[in-house]
Amino acid sequence: MPLLARMLPSPLVIDVRPGAIAGLGGLLADHRIATAGRVAVAVGPGQGDSIAAELNLGAAEIFRIPEGTHDAAAALGQQLRAGSYEAVAGIGGGQTIDVTKFAAHMAGIPMVAVATALSHDGICSPISTLRHESGTGSHGVAMPVAVMVDLDRVRSAPGSLATAGIGDVVADLSAVADWELAAADLGERIDGLAVAMARSAAQAVLHQPGDTRSDEFLTVLAESLILSGMAMAVAGDSRPGSGGEHEIMHAINQLYPGTGSHGELAGVGTLFCTFLRGNADQAELVSACLARHGLPRTPGDLGMSHADFTKAVCYAPQTRPGRYTILERLALPEAEIADRVEDFAKANS
Ligand SMILES: [Zn+2]
Repeated sequence: MPLLARMLPSPLVIDVRPGAIAGLGGLLADHRIATAGRVAVAVGPGQGDSIAAELNLGAAEIFRIPEGTHDAAAALGQQLRAGSYEAVAGIGGGQTIDVTKFAAHMAGIPMVAVATALSHDGICSPISTLRHESGTGSHGVAMPVAVMVDLDRVRSAPGSLATAGIGDVVADLSAVADWELAAADLGERIDGLAVAMARSAAQAVLHQPGDTRSDEFLTVLAESLILSGMAMAVAGDSRPGSGGEHEIMHAINQLYPGTGSHGELAGVGTLFCTFLRGNADQAELVSACLARHGLPRTPGDLGMSHADFTKAVCYAPQTRPGRYTILERLALPEAEIADRVEDFAKANS
């Protein structure tokens, strides 16, 4: 009999709502996740000591994650192995989830992602992005077994960082355009389902009215980040969510560490790559979306000089050898990139 359908990887539970975090104790008691109840909880630096008591997590042991580095992730992985835990929940923003995902994979146990910020599409992806001594690295890991997004916590987080993932979702439009370019120029195989999920996620956020205080907008953003991560699991790599704009991000992280967050850099990178592609309609939509939600759009908004941004764009293709994007297609010399950066900044000023 011919194959009738393909199986898709997915978390057992996806729970996006105000107050979702209160259900964590019950979720961790689910025998599909932990049979003897021996679970660990990893929290980010932004979470207070009260979280375990507040959530009534019983005997769960709490680990603090100091930073989003490979060293922190490896240390947590060792602690999870040493303690013979059955499962681990990571509660926090993007970095905390990335660290916990990597550590869980290292220990060979399931991970529950509890997002209190919507900073990037790693909430549900099979990829963990961690800082190391020479920049950032992306590691293939197991996808979370369950995903919770507490909209109350996202809303009460300070500043626009908690919703900077808007930039990472709209980056799917740039990533998909680069994938299609690679298919046209090099014959790279495209996964139509992964593209459908990634593009729909980006379009939903691009066109969703309301601001980052409204449940309606936050729900669409959270669900889109989850779908964007799942698109990567379907594709088997980061292609549907990472193109030239992420190459620029990796270059900025490497050359100018500490500049912007993942979501902020993805947003600016997307706008710049869309400008390079000459897709004026899409650039206008992306620009309006980033501006509406208070996210940076230009090198100046990121606190970067045009010269530094130009250097990062020049260096970007080296961060991801073998990935073909608009940057590799154009292969512009530095002087020409500098001109484009000037025009880009003018167009978005
Ligand atoms: Zn990303």
